[in-house]
Amino acid sequence: MRMYRTRSLLPFLAIAALLLPLAAESPDEVVNPRRADNSFVSDGGGVLSPEYRALIDGVCRELQAKTTAELAVVTVGDLGGLVIEEFAEKVFRRFGIGVKGKDNGLLLLCSRDERLVRLEVGYGLEGDIPDALASRLLEREALAQLRDGRFGRGLFLAARNVAIQAAGDVPLTITEPTAWPAEAVPPKPKNLPQPKKKGKWDPLRSSLYFGGGILAFALLAIGLTMARFNKARGRAARARIAGGTPASVILAWIGGVISFFLVLGFGKDFLTPFVAMLAAPGLATFGRLFTGRVLKKRLDSYHLPCVKCGAAMDMAADSEDDVMLSTEEAAEEKAGGMDYEFWRCPKCGADEKLAVKLGKASKCPQCGRRTLKSSTTTLLAATREQGGRTRTTETCLNPKCNYAKTRESSTPRLSTPSSSSAGSSRPSGSFGGGRSGGGGASRKF
Ligand SMILES: [Zn+2]
Ligand SMILES: [Zn+2]
Repeated sequence: MRMYRTRSLLPFLAIAALLLPLAAESPDEVVNPRRADNSFVSDGGGVLSPEYRALIDGVCRELQAKTTAELAVVTVGDLGGLVIEEFAEKVFRRFGIGVKGKDNGLLLLCSRDERLVRLEVGYGLEGDIPDALASRLLEREALAQLRDGRFGRGLFLAARNVAIQAAGDVPLTITEPTAWPAEAVPPKPKNLPQPKKKGKWDPLRSSLYFGGGILAFALLAIGLTMARFNKARGRAARARIAGGTPASVILAWIGGVISFFLVLGFGKDFLTPFVAMLAAPGLATFGRLFTGRVLKKRLDSYHLPCVKCGAAMDMAADSEDDVMLSTEEAAEEKAGGMDYEFWRCPKCGADEKLAVKLGKASKCPQCGRRTLKSSTTTLLAATREQGGRTRTTETCLNPKCNYAKTRESSTPRLSTPSSSSAGSSRPSGSFGGGRSGGGGASRKF
């Protein structure tokens, strides 16, 4: 009776065993093969026959024995919604593949249902296996086998190629088996969860978005400049709008730098955001400079329209100007705080006086004229040990005013650069405790 009951459970147990690898996997659930059976192969995806598991483990064992480099081969059913790069990095970190300090670890990760394979390379091997080579190692022979569903053969070939490359000058005795063993029959793929958006971030597209935004902003600023230019009355007012250092150019460069680091944070591609974020502010600067030149040229033929009859007025020359200016106004113009323009209508005889504020002198607190000049001299330069002292002298250039003021002020000490603290220690598993810097390559098969 008892026997019968146990036997009746067998079909259910078999179904449960078949369903087990179908559960969505997370990097934290991947079995550490060094702990489980002291091997280098973890077949959570159920795609390796015992013969292939032994073959691949043999490759990893020889590599470790002869070079201390650790190669782990991990298969999973699916990536549980993560992108393979993130999944691989998490498994690599959790296992700590490679000897601590040498960081000579390698992880060959294969996802059965997404049909993705990735080689994650530890810090210490990034020189021997750069990303481009990692990609070629997966491409050579292995990808074709994986594509045809021969997971064992494909992963064996990939592991062998990777091991030979990682061993460098140390010869390995890996030989292909005379007859390829039978492949495992992998479970059928189920409906895949959509990968998270994070992995779909495309540096080229986001660079174009940011760059386009910067250019649109720059165009808007140019349009506003032209509108202000056309609205302004007088030559000095227009010249001030056409020239100078426009804030929009500075903002475009700040925007470029911020965008660059934003885009960089989402992907490993460095060149695309770099070029895009340099090109957009560059174009904005060029566009603004070009606009300034065009506007300045237009200034030469500019005539103020008469408010009474609409005819083009003539501007008085500077020599005539001075006669019409008061002493204070002449002082303001000389100090660079104001510019005065006199226009006369040749048709109706009307005249107009225009005044524009300029920045070379500021308003005097005593006489209220823009005739105040200020200069600062350093009495004692600031160092890291002590602050400095400066003297600021303000003088009013209005001959009818005698305002002058001198004040001394202290400047702060120069700051010392702070030193960074040492890195933290990590728990070591049965692998050596090596780290990866996200180097490697992923391929679809
Ligand atoms: Zn007129
Ligand atoms: Zn004054």
